[in-house]
Amino acid sequence: MLWDLVVIGAGPAGAATALGALAVEPGLSVLVLDRQDFPRDKACGDGIAPQVFDLLAEVGVTGLVDDRTPVRRLSLRRGELGVDRLMARPAWVVPRAVFDHRLVEAAQAAGAVLRKQRVRGIDVRASSVLVGGGDEVEGRVVVGADGAHSEVRRALGLKAGPTALALRGYAPTPPDRAAQQVIVFGMARQPSYAWSFDRGDGWSNVGYGEQLRAGRQPTRAELLAQLEVLLPGASVGGENWRGHQLPLSGWSWRPQRGRVMLVGDAAGLINPMTGEGIYYAVATGLLAGRAAARAVRRGDPGLEYRRSAAKLLGQHFRHTTLAARLTRSGRVLDAGIKASADDHRVFDNLVEIGLADGVLHSASLRQVAKQLMGRGTP
Ligand SMILES: Cc1cc2nc3c(=O)[nH]c(=O)nc-3n(C[C@H](O)[C@H](O)[C@H](O)COP(=O)(O)OP(=O)(O)OC[C@H]3O[C@@H](n4cnc5c(N)ncnc54)[C@H](O)[C@@H]3O)c2cc1C
Repeated sequence: MLWDLVVIGAGPAGAATALGALAVEPGLSVLVLDRQDFPRDKACGDGIAPQVFDLLAEVGVTGLVDDRTPVRRLSLRRGELGVDRLMARPAWVVPRAVFDHRLVEAAQAAGAVLRKQRVRGIDVRASSVLVGGGDEVEGRVVVGADGAHSEVRRALGLKAGPTALALRGYAPTPPDRAAQQVIVFGMARQPSYAWSFDRGDGWSNVGYGEQLRAGRQPTRAELLAQLEVLLPGASVGGENWRGHQLPLSGWSWRPQRGRVMLVGDAAGLINPMTGEGIYYAVATGLLAGRAAARAVRRGDPGLEYRRSAAKLLGQHFRHTTLAARLTRSGRVLDAGIKASADDHRVFDNLVEIGLADGVLHSASLRQVAKQLMGRGTP
């Protein structure tokens, strides 16, 4: 059978791709392949920005986390410095075994077919794409949503960009970290931070991650040790430890043209400041799915995807790259924390940049510069 759209990977990016396509063209034949059975776990901090649900509502998916408790408080710390504020909008902390399963069920309810299959290679032909591994599958358009170690990206001959490594576990929530998301930045190499995100059910997602330097891959023991250095006691009673790579976004990004598109982690779209990637996975999935549905019989869905993604995320990626470069300096990071403590507008701006598609406001930059020059509140 020739499918209109074959999506490889059923995480947030893949499920969103199917949803985006079927919202435009409900009659489309959409096959989603994943090497794992759902529900499945995925190493993640489980922090989900409210903007993710705004995007999903656009394709009629609502109520996914109605039974979960949102988190309003965010605490950012480094050494002796800290800011602790309510976020303008609440975020959610939902285990991926739950969130991803619900999302892929929504895609199935919209008409997508989910099949367990590990994909090995693709063959791009004149008017279709052959997907290898297991049963041979053919699609008019193929979307690679297969995560950090994307087989589709590799088959296209594209290299992975800068990468971080992080380890997460689940540990009982102590009273002093309840009802909040806590991030403690490292004192030495940047970007690096430990986190504790309260799930609201007595457990927290805790972990530590850092950007990888050439030739050096920290061990699991080292990652756990750093978590304990920055958030003492965070790993006590912890279980289900799982590590994974985070492909970070950069200054420029060129989603593919033609019949094969990459979305989410497969496209290397994790925020280099915060390690957040679910928003970009869902945003690019929806855009690629819509582009596929509109152009499926006309050749180049990648062109529309490229234009719409550049419009939504181009400036944002340039600003996050700039912010990530600046905050490699501990002094700038400290100035950002102080400015956020002084003025909630700076805090809100940094949250928008860190979690979704925000851009740096010049007023925020001025406040940070003021702190750097020692003219802020002591
Ligand atoms: C420790 C850690 C903490 C993080 N914390 C956060 C956070 O708090 N908030 C946030 O927003 N982001 C966070 N991220 C990033 C986030 O997890 C990713 O950005 C997100 O999972 C990307 O979704 P995706 O659908 O692109 O990929 P994935 O969720 O990785 O899904 C890819 C899917 O493809 C399937 N697959 C892979 N290869 C094949 C193949 N060959 N054939 C078939 N199927 C295949 C996999 O089984 C998987 O289901 C974190 C990442 C890590 C590692």
